[in-house]
Amino acid sequence: MSTYDDQSAVTVLGLGPMGRALAGAFLDAGLRTTVWNRTPGRDAELVARGATAAGTAEEAVAASDFVVVCVVNYDASDAILRQPAVADALKDRTLVNLTADTPARARDTADWAAAHGIRYLDGAIMTPTTTIGTPEAVFLHSGPEDVYRAHQPVLDTLGGTHTHLGEDVGRAAAYDIALLDIFWTAMAGYAHALAAARAEGITGRELAPFAQGIAAILPPLFEEFAGDADAGNYSGDLNPITSAASSMSHIIEASEAHAIEASVMRAVEGQARRVIALGHGTDGFIRVTDLLSRHGH
Ligand code: NDP
Repeated sequence: MSTYDDQSAVTVLGLGPMGRALAGAFLDAGLRTTVWNRTPGRDAELVARGATAAGTAEEAVAASDFVVVCVVNYDASDAILRQPAVADALKDRTLVNLTADTPARARDTADWAAAHGIRYLDGAIMTPTTTIGTPEAVFLHSGPEDVYRAHQPVLDTLGGTHTHLGEDVGRAAAYDIALLDIFWTAMAGYAHALAAARAEGITGRELAPFAQGIAAILPPLFEEFAGDADAGNYSGDLNPITSAASSMSHIIEASEAHAIEASVMRAVEGQARRVIALGHGTDGFIRVTDLLSRHGH
């Protein structure tokens, strides 16, 4: 593998909000930045800041040894990358796919890249567009360590923290899935809580300071329960799952009394009740992890 790519030139394929933020950070770092997007016109601000607009994806790829793609999902990145002319142009270059999707899609793309002589890294961005180019950005990467090390300086121009999670190219996507699982489940809880509160005449603004208090309880619990889950130790001394299930049933009852569907909470309560039925009622709620993993019972 060549480690001598010209790292002063980068190409960004995909100019949604995130692609534009990435290209903007490369420009701010003084890199020669070529951009392309399926729908024309999204590059105007970047071009005004010094980016070169390419007419086609293959032209964009040909302009740089280092290519980043960031589009909505891997159906979209496949539609761009797997065109024969684009695949040919990518040969012997480095492609970093910062599009979010599943680990299986990342591994499939890595196989495709290997078959086409393309050096490939897969990544996930864990923070919003506004963090890109700042210390707050969080990037996860996976794939061949030597390729990652060779391109670390150019990745660092995107700001924030970059973590290489290992050679299994699906690992960044696997972390992304697990972390977005937390995010979306929490957002579902918040959306539901706002509706339940509204039904009782409580505004979002009234609830928000207390909602933040609930959110602040979580980080130390995440840390503690991570160790418990790894060790298979689910002691519920301070909050047994029987008590948790009772609390959940109140939420369901109060919501449904206002004709607010409570399907998410019903699903969670069902999991807790299954754990209890399996004889683990004195354990803590995180015993559900084992129920879902289909071991430990
Ligand atoms: P979107 O997820 O909406 O992606 C928009 C981009 O995808 C556009 O460039 C769009 O092109 C392109 N696209 C969609 N379908 C196709 C297709 N069939 N062929 C070619 N291009 C296509 O916006 P973002 O830029 O915000 O997100 C990009 C990635 O970054 C996503 O995977 C997202 O999950 C991830 N991400 C985003 C964050 C954010 O805060 N926005 C935070 C963390 C990760 P066109 O303009 O032609 O429609």
